[in-house]
Parts: sequence; C-alpha cells; structure tokens
Amino acid sequence: MKVLDLQCPDGHRFEGWFASADDFESQRSRKLVECPMCGAKDVNRLPSAPRLNLSGATEASSRPAADEAAHRQAAAMRVLREVLDKTENVGDRFAEEARRIHYREAPSRNIRGVASAEDAQALVEEGIEVMPLPVPAALKGSLQ
Ligand SMILES: [Zn+2]
Repeated sequence: MKVLDLQCPDGHRFEGWFASADDFESQRSRKLVECPMCGAKDVNRLPSAPRLNLSGATEASSRPAADEAAHRQAAAMRVLREVLDKTENVGDRFAEEARRIHYREAPSRNIRGVASAEDAQALVEEGIEVMPLPVPAALKGSLQ
C-alpha cells in the first residue's frame, strides 16, 4: 500500500491509499479518485512530505509554523547584516580594542571581531559589554 498526499482544485488536501503510484494514476484517469470534501474528481498528487499526523486540519496548521521559522531566520539574518554594517571588524584584536574603547584610549565605536571564550568572559568581568554573535557558515566568508 502507498499513502499519497492529494489535493483537489479547491485546495482540499487529503490522503489516498493505493496499491502503487501507478494504481493512483490509473484510478485518477478513470475519475475514480474524488475529493472527500467537495467531490471534485480532478485530483492532483502532492509531493510526499514526512508524515506528521493523519488529520488534514492539523497538517495544514503545521505549514504556518514552518513559514514562521523561515521568517524568524530571515529576521535574524537581517539583524546580523545590520550589525555587520554598523560595526568595524577588528578581527582577533577584538578583546584588546574593546578594552581600549572602554578605557577611552580609542575612539568610541561599535566593533566586532573574534574573541576566545576566556577573553569574552574577562571583558564581561571588567564591565565591558560584549555580545556573542553567532554567524552562520554562509556568511563567514564575507566576514574575514
Ligand atoms: Zn475538494
């Protein structure tokens, strides 16, 4: 048996059980497959997705969640790019430069760079504000 994700022209999604994909095609061409909600016979097969559950309603509501995750990721990327635009890259001199700025030995500005966990911890203990910035691998090349 094969479980296929199907959709009618009205956008109703449902599942059909067939002996094989060919069996579905054959039944569909003979108009034997119909939408359980509106009875439409022009049913299309959707690309199969991981099965989350068997209820059409719950499955539909899982889509916005995936969209939301994508939106969140896009928003995080925007914030990251903004930070990159507004900061000066001091590379591995980050800890040193952050101290110089903190003690007013260097002009006040926003910097970014690389610091070891120990350096970052030491800066925090000295009252210097540091923000860990997780940089996605895709952006690494443009950073250094
Ligand atoms: Zn329908």
